[in-house]
Amino acid sequence: MPKVVSRSAVSSSTDAQPTASSTAALRVYYCICGEFILVIDKSLASLPKRRTDGAVIVQCRDSELGKAKVFKLNAVNKDPILVERENGHERQHKFHCPRCSLPVAYQSTPPPVKSGPYLYILKGALSQVQGQVPSDAFEDE
Ligand SMILES: [Zn+2]
Repeated sequence: MPKVVSRSAVSSSTDAQPTASSTAALRVYYCICGEFILVIDKSLASLPKRRTDGAVIVQCRDSELGKAKVFKLNAVNKDPILVERENGHERQHKFHCPRCSLPVAYQSTPPPVKSGPYLYILKGALSQVQGQVPSDAFEDE
């Protein structure tokens, strides 16, 4: 490995992409309006998804299923809603983009984030590239 000798030219490092080879690399996700929403230690594409609505499951606590994900969500909470499911109703505490108010995630427990075992990221809500609509945003329409 060559040694990095100069640390003066760092101005272009802000748009560097995280390297896929490093498991410790943090991924940053944005709302489609460009607002920063989520930083997480795993790619959302690599995480399991709910059968009911295709939302990405982010584990908030260590369990037999694996270790908790390290993440930070930048979103505002709104009143909980009830969603109809096959076997009854499900309470969802939604998190919205602080800029455009689009819903981006939800959990089954009251805020703060991580108060429950899982956080769910809404399908197609976030993009890894600022200002780009995620490829699955209109899949169901
Ligand atoms: Zn937004």
